[in-house]
Amino acid sequence: MASQARGKVTIDVNECKGCGLCVEACPPKCLELETELSAYGVHPAHYLGEDCTGCGICFYTCPEPGAITVYKMAPPPKATLTTTEERNASAH
Ligand code: SF4
Ligand code: SF4
Repeated sequence: MASQARGKVTIDVNECKGCGLCVEACPPKCLELETELSAYGVHPAHYLGEDCTGCGICFYTCPEPGAITVYKMAPPPKATLTTTEERNASAH
């Protein structure tokens, strides 16, 4: 089973030139080139939909400004321990 994604990416097919640099650079290999051609006659990259860590390597590798947008998911809130004194203080 895939681990919970910590990020996601979107790729603008109108900006992507299909160079494949992001596909090669992505550590978890969650990008690939489409088999279909875009309107510009290239095979644009697309996100496979899981395993993105939000590392941003694809963004920094891509030569086309605006082709890739990386979203980093906020981690789930950690449970915090509260002392009895703090709990009593907030109760008043
Ligand atoms: S942000 Fe990192 S893990 Fe996510 S698609 Fe880009 S290179 Fe891959
Ligand atoms: S590096 Fe950029 S231009 Fe090249 S395939 Fe990936 S998104 Fe497209």
